[in-house]
Amino acid sequence: MVRPRIVIVGGGFAGYQAARRASRHARGEVDVALINPTDFSLYQPLLPEVAAGILEPRRIAVPITSTLPRVKLLLGTVGGIDTGQRLVRYVDAENRPAEIDYDRLVITVGAVSKVLPIKGAAEFGHGFKGLPEALYLRDHIVRQVELAAHAPPGERRARLTFVVVGAGYTGTEVATAGHLFTRALARYHRSLRDEPIRWILLHLGQSVLPGLRPSIQRTAERVLRRRGVDLRLGVSVREQTREGVHLTDDTYVPARTVVWTTGVAPDPVAACFGLPMVGGRIEVDEYLAVKGHDHVLAVGDIAAVPDLTRPGEYTGMTGQHAERQGKLAGRNVAASLGYGTAKPYKHRNLGFVVDLGGWKAAADPLGVPLSGVVAKAVTRGYHLMSVPSGRVRIAADWLLDAFLPRQEVQLGLIRSGQVPLASAGPELPHLAYEEPDSET
Ligand SMILES: Cc1cc2nc3c(=O)[nH]c(=O)nc-3n(C[C@H](O)[C@H](O)[C@H](O)COP(=O)(O)OP(=O)(O)OC[C@H]3O[C@@H](n4cnc5c(N)ncnc54)[C@H](O)[C@@H]3O)c2cc1C
Repeated sequence: MVRPRIVIVGGGFAGYQAARRASRHARGEVDVALINPTDFSLYQPLLPEVAAGILEPRRIAVPITSTLPRVKLLLGTVGGIDTGQRLVRYVDAENRPAEIDYDRLVITVGAVSKVLPIKGAAEFGHGFKGLPEALYLRDHIVRQVELAAHAPPGERRARLTFVVVGAGYTGTEVATAGHLFTRALARYHRSLRDEPIRWILLHLGQSVLPGLRPSIQRTAERVLRRRGVDLRLGVSVREQTREGVHLTDDTYVPARTVVWTTGVAPDPVAACFGLPMVGGRIEVDEYLAVKGHDHVLAVGDIAAVPDLTRPGEYTGMTGQHAERQGKLAGRNVAASLGYGTAKPYKHRNLGFVVDLGGWKAAADPLGVPLSGVVAKAVTRGYHLMSVPSGRVRIAADWLLDAFLPRQEVQLGLIRSGQVPLASAGPELPHLAYEEPDSET
């Protein structure tokens, strides 16, 4: 008896949960294969803490093989799908073309950094979507402070100026964690003791954290201003150069660090799959099945899932939705093979947590506005509950960070050229599906 096979493309928030649930619901009687470029599932919400040297990078890299023993991990990047022949084509970790057939398919390739059409951004800017960017930023920050300590005044000022573009939860968390990190680093340098370190957070909108509750926005703005982060609302970048940024308010800021956190866009690879799309996302029904392809499901940032709590709208690109959609996709795909019953996706937002560095955070669990150390405890509790594994090590890093000085070394693993803004997403060999020629 040939065992049915479920193939899951992408091992992030949604893919990891879909694989876990599918193998559980199918009681191990179905082959579950997961294709992902890395052997880990990245817990992105804690990336700012890696960039600020609070957490070691492996803490947020959840190992797939050891935590999902009934799932077959295929290291690779998918470039094409043939829904007619039920085949997925990918390039494996050694760049060799490969393919795998499926009975059911779940697509969860997520999103990439949005690159705005601003002069110089793609050339000189850096995004903040994956571990390479977080590691690069951590090293870069340490290097700027080290070099500033012995630099002439003009150069020193530029090296001690850090610009973050976009004040969503990523930009706000990077600016608050980064600001405290540079202050800690500067203490090691006598020459920098009285030197101003500038963190400038630019945002075109009129308040930070767009889409979140006003109580969270107010708390975040208050903490940013009290910390001395230069928050500029209604202002963005007109042009970026190697030496600094020209802003839309006609001012110029010399700066050696510019981090673009201006949102994400659905991963462009999905456009190669030949499936119905809306706004760059794969269109699905409330059971997460792709319209007209009931053996294919799509979930997470890449999927346009109807939001049953807000008729006519699609669910947002958040981990909160991706994790739950992944779990339900695992259930529904198993149900389509005769294991259990399928359910429609319906999830009302449970609130948000935003870490503001130090002992501060802003949160509104179940609509209850929280700030300060209480919000911090809720925020860290939420992440410990959400991360699929490695909780003890994360908690240990937090404990050590509370009592020991931050380590100020550069690992030197990632160079600037390796993480240009435009690359924030796996390399994509455009492999349109070709019929094998008759000789082979
Ligand atoms: C810094 C940061 C902080 C965040 N904080 C929060 C937060 O506090 N709360 C919240 O709700 N959300 C947060 N988010 C958003 C959240 O992380 C995403 O919404 C969530 O990760 C989406 O899950 P996903 O599974 O759709 O995509 P991802 O988690 O991005 O996973 C996609 C996976 O697919 C893989 N992949 C991509 N292309 C291919 C391909 N061609 N072939 C094979 N595999 C592929 C990727 O390598 C990745 O493993 C944050 C995001 C960032 C970047």
